[in-house]
Amino acid sequence: MSQTETLPSVGARPSSANKLMAETMYDKCMALASNLWWSWQPEVITLFRDLDPIRWRQLDHNPIALLSEFTPERLEMRAAELVLYSRINHAYRRLKEYLSTIPLWGRTYAGVLGSKPVAYFSLEFGVHESVPIYSGGLGVLSGDHIKSASGLGVPLVAIGLFYDQGYFKQHLDLNGWQQEEYIDTKVENLPMEPARGSDGRPLTVEIQTRTGKLYAKVWLMRVGRVNLYLLDSDVEGNSPEDRELTSRLYGGDIRTRIRQETVAGVGGVRALRALGITPGVYHLNEGHSAFATLEAIRERMKDDGLSFDEALRDVAEHTVFTTHTPVPAGHDRFNGALIEEHLGPLRDELGISFDQLMGLGRVEPQNVHEPFCMTVLGLKLSRRANAVSNLHGRVTRRMWAHLWPWRVEDEVPIGHITNGVHILSWLAYQMLQLYDRHFPAGWQDRMGEPEVWQRIHEVDPGELWETHHSLKNLLLAFVRRRVSRQCRRRGESDDAVEAARNMLDPNVLTIGFARRFATYKRADLILYDLDRLSAMVNDPERPMQIIYAGKAHPADEPGKRLIQRIANLRHDPRFAGKIAFVEDYDINVARHFVQGVDVWLNNPRRPLEASGTSGQKAVLNGALNLSVLDGWWAEAYDGSNGFAIGKGASHVRDDVTDARDAASLYRVLEEQVIPLYYDRDIDGLPRHWIKRMMNSISSLAWRFSADRMVADYVRQTYLPAAGGTSCDMHIR
Ligand SMILES: *Cc1c(COP(=O)(O)O)cnc(C)c1O
Repeated sequence: MSQTETLPSVGARPSSANKLMAETMYDKCMALASNLWWSWQPEVITLFRDLDPIRWRQLDHNPIALLSEFTPERLEMRAAELVLYSRINHAYRRLKEYLSTIPLWGRTYAGVLGSKPVAYFSLEFGVHESVPIYSGGLGVLSGDHIKSASGLGVPLVAIGLFYDQGYFKQHLDLNGWQQEEYIDTKVENLPMEPARGSDGRPLTVEIQTRTGKLYAKVWLMRVGRVNLYLLDSDVEGNSPEDRELTSRLYGGDIRTRIRQETVAGVGGVRALRALGITPGVYHLNEGHSAFATLEAIRERMKDDGLSFDEALRDVAEHTVFTTHTPVPAGHDRFNGALIEEHLGPLRDELGISFDQLMGLGRVEPQNVHEPFCMTVLGLKLSRRANAVSNLHGRVTRRMWAHLWPWRVEDEVPIGHITNGVHILSWLAYQMLQLYDRHFPAGWQDRMGEPEVWQRIHEVDPGELWETHHSLKNLLLAFVRRRVSRQCRRRGESDDAVEAARNMLDPNVLTIGFARRFATYKRADLILYDLDRLSAMVNDPERPMQIIYAGKAHPADEPGKRLIQRIANLRHDPRFAGKIAFVEDYDINVARHFVQGVDVWLNNPRRPLEASGTSGQKAVLNGALNLSVLDGWWAEAYDGSNGFAIGKGASHVRDDVTDARDAASLYRVLEEQVIPLYYDRDIDGLPRHWIKRMMNSISSLAWRFSADRMVADYVRQTYLPAAGGTSCDMHIR
């Protein structure tokens, strides 16, 4: 670890200090479980799993829940039985070392942020399946962002909400209809503790609204070197209704939503202040948290005697705003009454009128018919704004061009930083070991460098294929286990349960499709012509099978119908046992899928997928993307590193686009994907396919990593926003 140095003792690292002086095996395991760093350390994960493999799975891979079933004595015995001492000691030492050092990258590039960290706001964080405070891609992106910030040593704190019921658990009934179940999370089983203010007491923030006060307590969750602060309205002082305000992600009505966003934005800035943290940069991940800017303006006015306009300019200078939504209807909008109810008292302190406040959230400030839009607020109150892929940047500039009527579209000041994924969180252990064997020493500290990944071309094709095959076997075993459990739970016949135990064949080309069931993602595109699909699935020489997973938003009836249609294919003799739907898509299901499929299918209606990240996870593990040229794939596909559906164009009529894209999808499958996959040499290896896997890994893994993404944010947005020097991206 020559590239690191000891952390200067800034900031409060309160009770972790105690935990880190752990002596017993139990204390050491608990210390490991108390920082989510373990979630991207395969050695620590296997350590927990080895303690009790069955309970580990049953407890959703939650190490605190697992350890709480052990007494210290029993754990000691188990560790002795399995000869775990040196593994526990080693893991514990590595954690201590990790926490007490800052990597060279952070010291070199992000030094100026040291005393004034980035405050990263997001309404969901997907760090691990055992911490259910995310719903989908946006949350997983936030989780990956803070993990990479931790790894690179970027001074950053994160702010979000704690949802004690999280997002729903999904089951399908006998008709294939989605059922939603909300489960209370056991707080004591989560790696978090009350955050303490400068006085050492657990922190509560309060927000005055026109209709009363809102209170929130603050939790601290450790994600490597990053502190994640989660506000939680379940506190005394709040009405029973408000205590449930933050219990569900995307639950409740529009008033719940604005109250959640008030707690996260205004409450979040207040929490930071009470913690003694003065951010140098506010990074708003999506418009949901944009009220934070108003509270930051209030602070500047009060602390430094600035006028509203001066404070606004100052806050905008320090604010970075990332937008993810390429459709106008997808942005949060609130009417004037809700805005006044929740921000009225803050507005009084800012000394601005109701119309002025509303103007900040309107494209046309004077238009009384226009509601208050969080994205508009984010765009107006940040000097640096970005979309999340090149194509999404173009779409976003067009969508918001009317905010800058005097500029031509290309000069609308919204840039792009393409999303990426946290490599160690998504890479299968077997693939990591393969890379370890062949990549240059220390490659794990240089994952953003293209040269590192070029080495994949020197790997023996048979070794790569065998590794992929063993991961595919693990995936299919997982799917069979899940689907047979689903059948039993739904009360299906013993025959059905038995059939599920034997479904799917590891020698068959396997396509994966897992994501939110929003209709624009067109989960059913491949079902466009069932006869043609059946011909492919049932080809005697070169068959194909498909595995699906994904949740529809509880209010999304069309999305639920898509799920139903796919789930019910199991009653169609042409597809029974060959098309599977795995319930309750989450990070765990996602990890299994992206690590084991041959092909990752992505066919959104272009250009509605802002970036997409699941295909990037698949790349790391050697799966090939088969995707519409939308989002990240529009800038990733080079003709030899995967497959493209369509030519990157959409018709104004959806039905025409769908027909064309379906035709293209079938053609690419029939003419490229299937022949390439089944073209075997005398050793049974698909040489050309393996070559494409290597092209995919070498050309894409480093570019679409969250390390590259966070480094881009640092250089292009954080440093200039903090007042440092850098290559500016888009300055207004
Ligand atoms: C990666 C991920 C997503 C995002 O997938 P997209 O294909 O980019 O929409 C959503 N949900 C989970 C659980 C994920 O892991």
